[in-house]
Amino acid sequence: MKNNVKRVFVLALLLLSSMFMLASCDEEDGEIDLQGSNLQIGTQENPGSPGENGEGTPNGGSSAEGGDDAEDVGTPHVHSFDEWVTIKASTCKEHGERERSCECGAKENESIPLLAHNEVIDIAVSPTCVQTGLSEGKHCADCLTVIIDQETLAALGHNEVIDVAVPPTCDQSGLTEGKHCSTCFTVLVVQNVIPSKGHTPGDWVVSLPATISVNGLMYQLCTDCDTKLKEEVILATGSLGLAYKPVFSGIKICTVTGIGTCSDKDLYIGSLIEEHRVLHIGTNAFEGCTFLESVTLPDGLESIASFAFKDCVNLKDIHFPGTKAEWIDFQKGFGWDEGIPSYTVHCTDGDISK
Ligand SMILES: [Zn+2]
Ligand SMILES: [Zn+2]
Ligand SMILES: [Zn+2]
Ligand SMILES: [Zn+2]
Repeated sequence: MKNNVKRVFVLALLLLSSMFMLASCDEEDGEIDLQGSNLQIGTQENPGSPGENGEGTPNGGSSAEGGDDAEDVGTPHVHSFDEWVTIKASTCKEHGERERSCECGAKENESIPLLAHNEVIDIAVSPTCVQTGLSEGKHCADCLTVIIDQETLAALGHNEVIDVAVPPTCDQSGLTEGKHCSTCFTVLVVQNVIPSKGHTPGDWVVSLPATISVNGLMYQLCTDCDTKLKEEVILATGSLGLAYKPVFSGIKICTVTGIGTCSDKDLYIGSLIEEHRVLHIGTNAFEGCTFLESVTLPDGLESIASFAFKDCVNLKDIHFPGTKAEWIDFQKGFGWDEGIPSYTVHCTDGDISK
């Protein structure tokens, strides 16, 4: 119906201005073709939309403005677009836009594809015994979009190893049992020091028994480790059965007072008699002991009293534990050797005969 009204209107217009021919690019509906003598009125409702290659119907551009010159009437306008001009650049998140235009004023717009993300690796973090780790991830450095999520990796836990206990010995300290991690070396159970036990002395053992005249040896071992702790000399016993008396009561020094029950022809007077140090040989101690052939005097002897060896007619040898000079200076009581026909004193540096 509208078209009919318009046709009437157009015809009336044509009749009224028969000398004028009007043609307009921006006539929205309908088209007047004045070519030739025939007058045709087009009925195209929708002029072509802007063609991508510029091939469009006349007056097509949506934003085309103005009409063609009168001379162009009759030759369809084909858009000829310039190069694209970027209006807004794309990012990795938003499309950009570009535009190109035709000399007729028509413009064409289109979106520019998204840019690729600017990928950055989020490096993996290894988990430790006690701290969690992260797997490798990826994100965009520009828009911060996470491309690959970093996953939490569970902590590994300690790798426990026993530090074995070390028992203490007599002279070296020990350690209690401990624990550590073989991966990170964290000490989980501290090893405490156990002090050394010290030696435990055992009984004395005689390695060389003493005789009447020769010293012996004895030693003491630790009952735990058999280390030899001490070694001591066992003094020669000396002749047994001699009579003696302490010099002072309560102090273990003594004077030999007689032959007692001893019958040794070779008399050894020990340094100790029943734990008393022998300091003196008393007055008349061995008087008349005709069976004596030799006498050995002890270390530490200080004096021989009067008549000590009187009438020991068979005494030939006296052994003295000192030098000849010491023997000469030695304290000897009056008549100590009275009645001995002849004898030799054997000193450490030689003999003196009488
Ligand atoms: Zn154009
Ligand atoms: Zn991005
Ligand atoms: Zn660990
Ligand atoms: Zn020991």
